[in-house]
Amino acid sequence: MSISTKSFMRYFNTQNVLAKQIPRNLKGKSKSSQEWLTRQLADPYVEKAKMMNLRCRSAFKLIEIDDRFKILKPGDTVLDCGAAPGSWTQVAVNRTNANGTKEGNKRGAVFSIDLLHFHAVPGATTFGGMDFTTTSAQQRLREALAGRQVNCVLSDMAPNATGVRMLDQENIMSLCYSVLRFALAMSAVNANLVVKLWANGDVAKLEKDLARFYEYVKRVKPESSRSDSAEIFLVARQYKGLEIASETSTKENS
Ligand code: SAM
Repeated sequence: MSISTKSFMRYFNTQNVLAKQIPRNLKGKSKSSQEWLTRQLADPYVEKAKMMNLRCRSAFKLIEIDDRFKILKPGDTVLDCGAAPGSWTQVAVNRTNANGTKEGNKRGAVFSIDLLHFHAVPGATTFGGMDFTTTSAQQRLREALAGRQVNCVLSDMAPNATGVRMLDQENIMSLCYSVLRFALAMSAVNANLVVKLWANGDVAKLEKDLARFYEYVKRVKPESSRSDSAEIFLVARQYKGLEIASETSTKENS
């Protein structure tokens, strides 16, 4: 993963590679499949993901977030929620040195969970076919962590869209709060958290709730996030710890 996103994009633009990508074999495919194929071929992040052996283009969202906020470092313990097919996990393993390839650096640990079964990522402990929001899944994660405190909790989880906007919003918010509750219980002081949500919901409420527990909270739309997608990320840094957070809110309420 040594090629920087900027230099790759410069190469891509000067070579005008986009213009040459004409999808073949569209015959017989549905309109939505044709649109998907066309979009994939015209997407430089898809190509770059292939070149860098990353499982999907989503990796670049985490790479951008980490390049900007430095939320992952060698030796960290990371929990990746909604991890399939595994590209965020690949990035987390690389940046925390969970696979031990960065000699002279501390070795981290990455735990990844998804509703779907997905291929193991070398260096990570993966839990496929599990619903993160259930007590049993969280118990399995607790056991796997074996007393280790988490330094960074990531959630790229998204519920299946029902098509009813209010319901979809409720579902993604409920995932975010489930992640937040687990993070508060399992995180080390100064830990970080990244959650995905949709911009057309009550972002301000979650932001405010995060600010009770984390020193810094930022709304982020990475460049690699498709502009026609409503997804945004909240990046919360420097967990205050439950004691400090509850002392602060007691003072605020008195
Ligand atoms: N970050 C991943 C990557 O880079 O490979 C992509 C994640 S994908 C956008 C969202 C994932 O969230 C889906 O694989 C979905 O199965 C998972 N998901 C949604 N709800 C979940 C839940 N309750 N528990 C675990 N995973 C969930």
